[in-house]
Amino acid sequence: MKKYYLQPIGGGFYLMDPAAKSFILARAEAEAAGIKIVVNSADRTRKEQEKLVEKYGLWDAVTNPTGAAAPGTSNHERGKAIDISVLSGDKKKFEQIMNRHGFRRTVPGEAWHWDYTYVPKGGVT
Ligand SMILES: [Zn+2]
Repeated sequence: MKKYYLQPIGGGFYLMDPAAKSFILARAEAEAAGIKIVVNSADRTRKEQEKLVEKYGLWDAVTNPTGAAAPGTSNHERGKAIDISVLSGDKKKFEQIMNRHGFRRTVPGEAWHWDYTYVPKGGVT
């Protein structure tokens, strides 16, 4: 069963609200700008995260920068992270669009990984 706060973003992927709404807007803007993207991952269960660690090893900035975050610590498990490949179009422009919609690249060496970092004025209750 999906976590109650998740919203579908298409392709069988989910993000929490408001990251889902923000991503849908960002994707529409990117498409309008002729940028082609594909989503490779969004929300994950803890089990899915454990499988990634088994496959890629535990992430470490120095010794394993392409590893996966420890289960329980990944923003993917909170529906707040999304992995995207830019297939064609202006990558710099795509970054600007994503930034404007609250997504940031937070993991060095992972050009595909975006965390939703927007915090509404007054904070989250
Ligand atoms: Zn990721």
